[in-house]
Amino acid sequence: MNIHEYQTKDLLRQYGVPVPEGRVVHTDEQAVSVAEEIGGSRWVVKAQIHSGGRGKAGGVKVVSSIDDVRAIADQMIGSRLVTHQTGTEGRVVHRVLIEKASTIVREFYIGLIIDRATRRITLVASSEGGVDIEEVARRTPERIIKEVIDPAVGMLDFQCRKVANKIGLKGALLPQAVKIMKRLYRCMRDNDAVMAEINPLAIIDGGELLVLDAKMSFDDNALYRRPAISELRDFDEEDPKEVEASGHGLNYIALDGDVGCIVNGAGLAMATMDAITLHGGRPANFLDVGGGATPNKVASAFRIVLQDPAVKTILINIFAGINRCDWIATGIVQAIHDQNIKMPIIVRLAGTNVEEGRAILNTANFPFIIASNLDDAAAKAMAALHSLEPKVAPLKKRTL
Ligand code: GDP
Ligand code: MN
Repeated sequence: MNIHEYQTKDLLRQYGVPVPEGRVVHTDEQAVSVAEEIGGSRWVVKAQIHSGGRGKAGGVKVVSSIDDVRAIADQMIGSRLVTHQTGTEGRVVHRVLIEKASTIVREFYIGLIIDRATRRITLVASSEGGVDIEEVARRTPERIIKEVIDPAVGMLDFQCRKVANKIGLKGALLPQAVKIMKRLYRCMRDNDAVMAEINPLAIIDGGELLVLDAKMSFDDNALYRRPAISELRDFDEEDPKEVEASGHGLNYIALDGDVGCIVNGAGLAMATMDAITLHGGRPANFLDVGGGATPNKVASAFRIVLQDPAVKTILINIFAGINRCDWIATGIVQAIHDQNIKMPIIVRLAGTNVEEGRAILNTANFPFIIASNLDDAAAKAMAALHSLEPKVAPLKKRTL
């Protein structure tokens, strides 16, 4: 789960990490009153969406009058911001962060990520922080410094000093940098985060270090024990189909193909997507109904898959261990009738109560396409798709 910049900064502030004074607002009026409360003569107005690259996309503006705070906040709130991370549809800005502006002397990057190869948290840092960090990582990877953290002892001072030195944080800045790194690490561990990133960490005029932008994301499987973090979830930033699915205990991820998939188990769902791709098709989604799927849960799965207008056929692949094929079949038939489904439905059932399941489908008065195994199911889904394609009359041969 991702959270907004302002939420990350609130969290980091609790850990004693230096962040600018500021508050999130929902209207231009609130923006003005927060700017007046902060005082000074320059403010930053920052669009709060779950995406980086806002600076380059016009989502971060430094202004020097209250009128501009109002105008920029008014312009940003309700607008759609398209960054290199959002896709062409962009994201609607529902809130903006108003902060006291700083004069930047230099920008650094500091991040804590989980390195999958070593399976450890790794401190990543660069002297080339700011809006071009991705470019730095691609073109000059040697400018990205890495230090692996041993989970048994945690992040040690000498590691922070080593990294800070390498990126050029020396003298009075060194102990400040060490403190920030250690507090970021503590904040990450205490809250089951999987990523914590500061970019830029800025030296501002006056010579202090200040966190101008920060991002954290959290382990979804640990949210149950982090109620304060769970509360930070912003449903506006998620695919509504994925939100509805999780409410029904379904694990759904939207993709961009046309073959809807309803499968049990994440591994089988992945294999089903692979089989569709192997047969030249494109899955419209990943959907794991889990174990013990009730007829209602299966019907909900149909409803969610069919909310995607690109779906032209649905492939159901169930290998029932804990599940029961008769329950699955009952759910399928219920969905067909209640949702008035007309498209080709390919069903592959195996395992517990498979005979009972097949019997339910056979008596349902719907032309289910029954598949005997995964490969057969994918092949039949493709055949069904092709049969839907408009038939073009062959061109008449012209005789001269
Ligand atoms: P991102 O583009 O989504 O990563 O958004 P950031 O919050 O990192 O802002 C982008 C850039 O705006 C930063 O790299 C800074 O150069 C600039 N910026 C952010 N805050 C301030 C500020 O207080 N003063 C000035 N002068 N620039 C800022
Ligand atoms: Mn940034």
